Amino acid sequence: SERLFGGFKKTSERLSENLTTAVTKAKLDDATLDDVEDALIISDLGPSAARRIREKLAEKRFGLEISQQELKEAVAEEIAEILRPVAKPLQITAFPRPQVILVIGVNGSGKTTTIAKLAHLFQEDDYGVMLAAGDTFRAAAIGQLATWAERINVPIVRGPEGGDPASIVFDAVKSATDKGIDALIVDTAGRLQNKRELMDELAKIRRVLGRLNEEAPHDVVLVLDATNGQNALSQIDVFKEVAGVTGLIMTKLDGTARGGVLVAAAEQYGLPIHAIGVGEKIDDLRPFDPDLVARVIA
Ligand code: GDP
Repeated sequence: SERLFGGFKKTSERLSENLTTAVTKAKLDDATLDDVEDALIISDLGPSAARRIREKLAEKRFGLEISQQELKEAVAEEIAEILRPVAKPLQITAFPRPQVILVIGVNGSGKTTTIAKLAHLFQEDDYGVMLAAGDTFRAAAIGQLATWAERINVPIVRGPEGGDPASIVFDAVKSATDKGIDALIVDTAGRLQNKRELMDELAKIRRVLGRLNEEAPHDVVLVLDATNGQNALSQIDVFKEVAGVTGLIMTKLDGTARGGVLVAAAEQYGLPIHAIGVGEKIDDLRPFDPDLVARVIA
């Protein structure tokens, strides 16, 4: 939790600063509530979460005296209320194995790094993991994933640059099945510039997977870069439409003041949040602990 605290430092400083300017009077009146709501919005929590938190505070404490510390704690509690229902770790439950986890997201979001971190988490729980290099559009993506695979010692199925992602995924599922692998994590292309092509490509992957196992893909995890703020939220809309999304992982929460977007995502979409990225190293993927995150943010 030391690292997590460090990770959210800027987000927390920003919200605290904004909240501190909000409470200048001792009583929680309408003017103060307006300021609190504004503070939450400019801290990237989004209009919907801001309104909800405002209403809850009003419901519980309107007209009562409140110190800055009490306000912070009350806001943290309301944030936790929003985050708790979406905190769901990615669990390996598929039968038959392997559990097929498609990982989607725009280039640069931290997709490749997150795949390696996720593989590492599963390894720590003694699961057998395999990677599939389904982002064949960028040669660098295949190379980067292969480098991680070697570093953490997990098998990888890869094809040539420009190869057919669906056929790589097909080979990977067969190989994972033969080897008794528990979790097959599939990298995919993140070309949102060409939505149609990406949609076709993902649909083909799904079709091929479905022929091998009706339940696959078991998870479609969208990786979002928190530094993109509200933009990260519009990516949820697009990927929901293009790929279907079963859960989120938000990256780069270290070093950004825009961590509030995590709360906005939880409130607006209600999609499970599996984990958060708080650094570039292999063990910098943290299970999503809503109470801890709420306390750290507010
Ligand atoms: P991809 O293009 O989506 O596959 O993105 P990469 O995995 O290559 O990541 C892009 C950059 O973001 C790399 O320099 C990563 O080290 C960095 N990155 C990924 N996750 C995090 C994170 O949680 N925190 C920080 N600070 N950097 C990250």
